[in-house]
Amino acid sequence: MNDKIQYVDKTSNIPLMGVDFLGIIDRGTNVIEFKPITLCNLKCKYCFVNSGNYDTNFIVDSNYLIEKVLDIVRIKGAYNLEIHFSPYGEILLYKELENLLKKLSDIKGISVISTQSNGLLLSKPVIKKLKKSNLTRINISLNSLKEETDCYLCNCTQYDVDKLIKNIYSLMNSNIQVLIAPVWFPGENDKDIEEIIEFVLNARNEGYSKSQLQIGIQKYLIYKTGRTLKKVQSKSWGYFYLYLSKLEKKFKIKLKLGPHDFGIHKRKRVSTLNLQKNDLLKIEIVSRGRWENECIGKINNSLGIKVLLKKPLVFSEELIGKIIEVKVIKANYKDNILTALFPHKL
Ligand code: SF4
Repeated sequence: MNDKIQYVDKTSNIPLMGVDFLGIIDRGTNVIEFKPITLCNLKCKYCFVNSGNYDTNFIVDSNYLIEKVLDIVRIKGAYNLEIHFSPYGEILLYKELENLLKKLSDIKGISVISTQSNGLLLSKPVIKKLKKSNLTRINISLNSLKEETDCYLCNCTQYDVDKLIKNIYSLMNSNIQVLIAPVWFPGENDKDIEEIIEFVLNARNEGYSKSQLQIGIQKYLIYKTGRTLKKVQSKSWGYFYLYLSKLEKKFKIKLKLGPHDFGIHKRKRVSTLNLQKNDLLKIEIVSRGRWENECIGKINNSLGIKVLLKKPLVFSEELIGKIIEVKVIKANYKDNILTALFPHKL
């Protein structure tokens, strides 16, 4: 882990929307995604966001997030909203979590608070705090019940599966829903996925309900900027769903989960600037990024943009406050995540 940390609060001048790795993401549904931290306790070999070895990590102030989410709730309507923590890192490393969860659960209209986690930092006291702060569901990325396989996939020397399983039971006994979310690495953990399904079925036979313990198998995705497992190929979506169908038949369990299963539905989107690929834009550089060839630009008070610095340019403090013209290279309307390039004329 690197020591360089950039804190993001109201005085930082860093907007909370628009950048993929921090702040808040609105995908036009009733789910509002939170990314308050980029630190991770693991460095998984398959991590598609490349977490665990960023040059600079980011931690967002909880009050700043609360202020922004109140605006978003007003726009979307104060009913049936879900806050989902999906950091480019591990949420249990976020020191303000308890406080933030409590404040979120006090906001009218927020009925579900869920999070992703690798689960390794769970303990009885942590679970007690999560329960007290009204966490509804935790999605745990457990890829195998064998320590050796987990150590290999997560690139670590110790992975206490027994402790994690005990904590899964403690979560369920505390009425926090658990969704085990293994990634299927074709040819690597096929047997392990079946063992996890059997574990879920056994727990359900012990009396835990389908909502208390779910399983959501994830497709292995490969991104240019992420880490990948050698020799493991990503399959097409068609192949993946066929694989799930076969498992559903074999184990008589529902494995294909969609937005409906989580009550996700379309809702008003926070207004965007309708930026398009290749648009030229004047922005102010307000922060370094995770890597030396990345920085954060400010478009307006609520919208930021990730700026990739073209080689050989690297970030230096002198760039802060500079107004530059960048070229938009990615503008995704579904989630309003923006990326630009600088310099764009060479
Ligand atoms: S996959 Fe998750 S747990 Fe593993 S390094 Fe990436 S963010 Fe951390």
